[in-house]
Amino acid sequence: MGRPIYLDYNATTPLDPRVLEAMLPFLTEQFGNSMSLSHEYGWAADSAVENCRSEVAQLLGCHKNEITWTSGATESNNWAIQGVLEALSFEEKSPVHILTSAVEHASVLKTLEHVRRIHHVEIEEVPVEPNGQIRIESFRSRLKPHTRLVCMMWVQNEIGSIYPVAELGELCREHQIYFLCDATQAIGKIPVNLSQVHIDLLSFSAHKLYGPKGVGFLYHRRQNPRVNLSPMIYGGGHEHGERSGTLNVPGIVGLTTALKIAEAERENEGPRLRHLRDQLWAGLSEHFRELRLNGPALGSGLRVPHNLNFSFSPRASVPPHLPGLAFSRGSACYSGKTSNSHVLRALGLSEDLSQKTLRLSLGRMTRPEDIDQALNIIKKSVKS
Ligand code: PMP
Repeated sequence: MGRPIYLDYNATTPLDPRVLEAMLPFLTEQFGNSMSLSHEYGWAADSAVENCRSEVAQLLGCHKNEITWTSGATESNNWAIQGVLEALSFEEKSPVHILTSAVEHASVLKTLEHVRRIHHVEIEEVPVEPNGQIRIESFRSRLKPHTRLVCMMWVQNEIGSIYPVAELGELCREHQIYFLCDATQAIGKIPVNLSQVHIDLLSFSAHKLYGPKGVGFLYHRRQNPRVNLSPMIYGGGHEHGERSGTLNVPGIVGLTTALKIAEAERENEGPRLRHLRDQLWAGLSEHFRELRLNGPALGSGLRVPHNLNFSFSPRASVPPHLPGLAFSRGSACYSGKTSNSHVLRALGLSEDLSQKTLRLSLGRMTRPEDIDQALNIIKKSVKS
């Protein structure tokens, strides 16, 4: 048997060969430290890093000094939340109210739990609708005079729902509340333009977009208003003292190349993946009765084109592994643990039904024959 069919692109993606090619010189001859500004190796690294910063900023519609390199979205989310709260704690001693959603990534929810232990904060989770959507009204009605931060992702990693970030940004601007948006699953998949939406802090990881693992960035608004953010990692003063640590030059080059490719191909890739995803769903629905789609309807425009998440009937027998198919049950961060996915729980699924759930996410290397093969594997392995 060959390698398993990979339908877990929301967990991570393979490096695009074009990205590897762009990275290679920075792993070999041009290995300089971007802070070594007394020789050519350092200048070359510094110039690559700064060009990448400009290119990423241009693609996202922000200023280059608003992009700070990090090790990925987990770090960016940790930094944004802890950095904002630390800065606020210097400004005021009164309690802070934070609104978030029940379906955020663990790197947001666990960081919020942590800051609740060390700062004077009150955290409120906005519930989701049965289809995983969130109404702006649910945020508006929960605002308090001391609400200072809203944390809401752009695209949900398990159920693929696209959230009303533009409206939420307006609400936050109107009430002078900082808005942290985790855009890890959105960038390169749907249009993301920071000159058109009001977001104060935004996180991203390259490996979700055919870039390398262990590199990402935090966008941090510098004007109208400037977001006060304390550093979280101290050391040699890299990134203007805001995030110390020798920069991952090949990773940054890889992230930037990956983003450029994804943006150039997005308009063709979206419909291609939607077509394959819809074929997969049609094949499954034809064979299995009582499938429950988790998340927004496929044709609703509220769901990214490459994601499918569904549960079999409560009576189905679903083995933990499907030989020949790489898929996920919830998010990769929870796989391997017995705990229920907090996202499926927020949608009202029982523990038992979430064990009978598959998240299938398609990507750049997915071909029609993979869909046929995946269908055969699922039909063979699951008894309904
Ligand atoms: N946010 C979301 C929405 C994600 O899907 C992920 C990765 N599963 C992360 C944050 C964390 O990314 P990383 O593990 O690369 O830091």
